[in-house]
Amino acid sequence: TCLMLCGGTGCRSTGSLEIKEALLEELNTRGLQDTVDVVETGCNGFCARGPILVVQPHDIFYQMLTLQDIPELVQEQLVNNTPLQRLQYKDPDSKQILPRQQDIPFFAHQLPWVLRNKGIIDPESIDQYIARDGYFAAARALTEMAPEDILQEMQKSGLRGRGGAGFPVHLKWKFAYRETSGVKYVLCNADEGDPGAFMDRSILEANPHSVLEGMLIAARTINADQGFIYCRTEYPLALERVQIAIDRAREYGLLGSDILGSGFGFDLEIYQGAGAFVCGEETALMRSIEGGRGMPRPRPPFPAQKGLWDRPTVLNNVETLANVPLIIQAGGDWYAGVGTRHSKGTKVFALSGDVRNIGLVEVPMGTSLRSIIYDIGGGIPGKREFKAVQLGGPSGGCVPAEYLDLPVDYEAISRAGAIMGSGGMIVMDQRTCMVDMARFFMDFVQEESCGKCTPCREGTMRILEILDRIRAGEGVIQDLWELEDLSATIRDSSLCGLGQTAPNPVLSTLKYFPKEYEDHIRNKK
Ligand code: SF4
Repeated sequence: TCLMLCGGTGCRSTGSLEIKEALLEELNTRGLQDTVDVVETGCNGFCARGPILVVQPHDIFYQMLTLQDIPELVQEQLVNNTPLQRLQYKDPDSKQILPRQQDIPFFAHQLPWVLRNKGIIDPESIDQYIARDGYFAAARALTEMAPEDILQEMQKSGLRGRGGAGFPVHLKWKFAYRETSGVKYVLCNADEGDPGAFMDRSILEANPHSVLEGMLIAARTINADQGFIYCRTEYPLALERVQIAIDRAREYGLLGSDILGSGFGFDLEIYQGAGAFVCGEETALMRSIEGGRGMPRPRPPFPAQKGLWDRPTVLNNVETLANVPLIIQAGGDWYAGVGTRHSKGTKVFALSGDVRNIGLVEVPMGTSLRSIIYDIGGGIPGKREFKAVQLGGPSGGCVPAEYLDLPVDYEAISRAGAIMGSGGMIVMDQRTCMVDMARFFMDFVQEESCGKCTPCREGTMRILEILDRIRAGEGVIQDLWELEDLSATIRDSSLCGLGQTAPNPVLSTLKYFPKEYEDHIRNKK
C-alpha cells in the first residue's frame, strides 16, 4: 500500500509536512512501516481540499486532513480495511460519497497530459520519472532522430507556446536551428507572475524532469549546449525540486557531455529572478540573465537570431516544454488528435476565485468554459450567479456569462476580447464590482511597468487616476471616452506585451459591463 501525500505548495501551506511526520510515526507505532510506503508527491491539483492523501493502489481519496485525524485514518483504512468516510469527498448536490479519486468530477473531466505524473510520483525521484517512460523521448531524439525529424514531429503536433502568445513552437525552433552560430541557448521561462496563476509552479514542483527533458530535446534540435531555467525566487519549492532534478539528471548522464553515448552535450543551470513581472517578457528575461536591468528591447532582431548574449536562443515556457516529451514519444499526429483546428493538445488552467473547486485543471483544447467552471469547478458556491471570468491574468480580458459555451481555443478566446494568456482563470460571481476588478489589474500592471516607454509608464497611471475618480463617485461620462482613447494609445504604442495588453481588463469590462461604470458615475457612489 502506498500513501500518496500531496507535497505541493498549497498542501504544504495547510500542514502536509506535519501530517507526513504524524503518518510515519503512527505507522511505526503500529509496526506498519515495512508494509506501507508514504510518498510525498507534487501538487495533486485539487488545492481547495488540501491536505490531500490518496491511498494506492485503490485510489481512495482523503481530503482536508488534520493531525488529529491520523490515528483514526490509519486504524480504519490500513488496519480495519474500511474507508474513513468522514474524510472522503461528498458530492455537494447529491450528498453521495465518492471514495475513488477518479470518480470525483473534478478529476473525471480532466485529461492530464502535462500533469500526467501529478500525485503519482515523488518529484525528487528520477527513477520514478523514468519508470513512467521518462527520458524515453529524449533517448529517441538523441540516438534515433535527426533535428529535421524532431522539427517535423513538432510541426505535425501543432504545439503552440503556452506562455500567452501562442506562437507555433516548431517555427521558433526552426529559426534557431537554421542559424549557424557555434553557440546557442535554450531557455525555460518559469517567471510566472500573474495574479491567480500557478500552473508553471505546480508543474515544476510535480514533474520537473518533464521540463528538463523538453529542454534537452529542444537543445538537441537547435544544437545548443547550454540552457537556463529562469525561475522567480518566490517559488522556493519549485527551485529546490528543479535543482534536485538537475543534479540527478547529471548523475544519470542525462545532462553533461556525450549524453547517452550520442556525442551530444547539454547542461543547465537555474537563474533566479527577483520577481519583476516584466521579466516574463523574453527580451527582458534575457537581459536579466546577462546581468542587466530586466527591460524589454525592440524586436527584430528576434531571439531565435540574436537572443541571450546575442546568440541564437530558443525560449519556451514551462508548460510548453513539458508537452515536448509526449510529442516525441507518441508522435505529432497522435498529439494533434486532441484539440481544435488551430489549438492542439491540452491546456492547464489555474482555476480560482468564486468557484467551489479551486485548483489546477488540465483539459483538451476546445473544452467549454462552462465545462471547466461547472463540471470540474463545481460551479459557484452559495447558489450565487456566475458573473464573469478573467482569462489570462492582467494581460487578459473579462468574459461574461453569455460566453460560457466558448471553447478554450486561442482564436475563440481572442474573438471574445480576452487572451488565453498563460492559464490564469479567475471566476467572479454577482457580488464582484467590475470597475474594482479592472482597477485591481491596472494597479498591478502600473506597478510592474518597467517605465521604459511613455505610453505604458504614464498612460497606465492616468487610467488608474480615472478609475479611482469613478470609484470615488467623482467621475463624469467623458471619463469613459477618455479611458477608451488612452487604452487604445497604450495598446498601439507600447514597446512590449506588458504595455500592449495592459488596458485589456479595462477595455473588456467597458465592453461587457458599461452600465457598472455608468452607475458609479450617475449614482455618484
Ligand atoms: Fe516597459 Fe511598459 Fe514599455 Fe514594456 S510597454 S517596455 S513594460 S514601459
